[in-house]
Amino acid sequence: MSVLPRDQVDTRARDIRCLFLDIDGVLTDGHLYIGPHGEETKTNFVRDGYGIKLALRQGLELAVISGRPSEAMRKRLEWLGIRHIALDTEDKEPAYLRMRDAMGLTDAQCAHIGDDVPDVPLLRRVGLAMTVADAHDSARAVAHWISRHDGGRGAVREAIDLILAAQDRLPR
Ligand SMILES: [Mg+2]
Repeated sequence: MSVLPRDQVDTRARDIRCLFLDIDGVLTDGHLYIGPHGEETKTNFVRDGYGIKLALRQGLELAVISGRPSEAMRKRLEWLGIRHIALDTEDKEPAYLRMRDAMGLTDAQCAHIGDDVPDVPLLRRVGLAMTVADAHDSARAVAHWISRHDGGRGAVREAIDLILAAQDRLPR
C-alpha cells in the first residue's frame, strides 16, 4: 500500500461513515508532560476540536482508540460529543472490530488516522488509511493519505475536512 492519487482518496472518502482517531501523536503532538506525582498532561489543538464537533453535526461518526489511559482526555472527548471511546487498549484491532460491528459498518465504511506501529493493523484494514505528516515510517508505509499538518497541529481537522468535502457536507 502507498499514498494514493487524490481522486482515489476522494472516492474512498465518499464511503466513510466513521473516522477512527488515535490520540497520542494525532490528536496531540505526542508530547507527554509528566508531573511530580507521575500524572500526565497533554495538549489539545482547538481547531481539531472544532472539526470534531463539525463532523458529528454533519453526520460523520467518530471513534477513538488509544493505547494509553487518560481520564482527562476521556472527559474532553465526551464533551466534544464522541460516544465511541476505547482507552488503555494495548491491541487496537479487537476494539476496532467491536466498535465497527456495533455501528453495523464494513471496513470500507471506516477510516483510521494513526501515527505509529500500533495503528498499522487498523490502517491495513480500513477503507481509508490516513496518517499525519510527522508519522513514524511504519504508518506512512501503509497510508493512503498523509496530512500536510503534523499530529496535534491540525492533522485531524484536515482529515475531517477531506472526508466531509468528498461527501459534499463541508459547510462553506
Ligand atoms: Mg499514536
